[in-house]
Amino acid sequence: MTAVHLDHITKRFDETVALDDIDLRINAGELFFLLGPSGCGKSTLLRLIAGLHEPTSGRILFNDRDVTNLHTDQRNAVMVFQSYALWPHMTVRENVRFGLSVRKVDRAEQERRIDDVLQLVEMTPYASRKPNQLSGGQQQRVALARALAVRPDCLLLDEPLSNLDAKLRHEMRSEIRRICKTAGFTTIYVTHDQKEALSVADRIAVLKAGRLAQVGTPSELYHRPRSAFVADFIGQTNLLAGKIVGRAGSSVEIETAAGKFRAAHAELNGDNVTISIRPEQMQIVRGSGNANRNRIVGRPIETTFLGEASEHVLLVGEEKLKVISAPPVFDVPQQMTVEFDPEDVVVLGS
Ligand code: ATP
Repeated sequence: MTAVHLDHITKRFDETVALDDIDLRINAGELFFLLGPSGCGKSTLLRLIAGLHEPTSGRILFNDRDVTNLHTDQRNAVMVFQSYALWPHMTVRENVRFGLSVRKVDRAEQERRIDDVLQLVEMTPYASRKPNQLSGGQQQRVALARALAVRPDCLLLDEPLSNLDAKLRHEMRSEIRRICKTAGFTTIYVTHDQKEALSVADRIAVLKAGRLAQVGTPSELYHRPRSAFVADFIGQTNLLAGKIVGRAGSSVEIETAAGKFRAAHAELNGDNVTISIRPEQMQIVRGSGNANRNRIVGRPIETTFLGEASEHVLLVGEEKLKVISAPPVFDVPQQMTVEFDPEDVVVLGS
């Protein structure tokens, strides 16, 4: 298995700095996501790893091998494109065979590998169909099988689910994880969909304007974002400007326009901060509540039913805060009280 080290990679296109000093280590066998808004440099980074672009500076290492100047074929990193790029005139079996023939794998070994990967992606019964006789999800599986058959050091997926409808996309998320983990190859997966990343990744790098904003497990990014950008990009959140007005051990008290709140941890030196509170971590309470929790009373000004949950916008002074309740609240009161734990208040720089 292959570990990938991006050693201080910078990529410029004329005046545009697409990637700025990216230093990143991806572990062997890891399912690693590159996540970020449009134009942040995700595809450029993937293309650099594939050998489709050259970095302006920095090195790319597969284990200890410097592959920076190697051609795509020599570095054995295989890319699966959004469009799948299957040959329309070839059957599923012949499509999967293609990369093996190019690499001059002997015929008996070709048959063995094709059988194995078609079984892995559950496409054995469709082996003699052409791509136009398959659904989008099935074409996606064939594209994956074709890439896996060549046993890449590194499998590169560029928004692989973007052409599928919402339901199929959801089903394929866990399928892709199962397939990649069973095959055991190092996989680097580009998406701008944070839910896809949170549900599938071992670790995620969030990029912002060509730089690494944060690298961590889904849980780390969700529970301990280190910036307002990451807090806002990974899930929904309420961001409030505040000032630290009291400290007790590791916990702090923060004054904001929506009230005074306690946070269990704050590792910052300055007193001017931004706090992040997730809508789903606030619970609607009736009655006296729990004195150890933070509490807000507000006026619900907007309610949306989402099926399994309801989303409420509370007006608290001048601030608007989003609260998500599961199961949904149908009987919305005039005044709503919500509580949340000091553990769930994330304190960020201002
Ligand atoms: P998206 O999610 O929209 O695909 P992305 O995060 O993958 O975006 P990139 O395609 O990597 O972003 O682009 C990063 C930056 O580099 C952008 O400003 C883009 O315009 C620029 N860029 C990408 N490829 C080229 C190129 N071949 N020539 C010039 N500029 C480019």
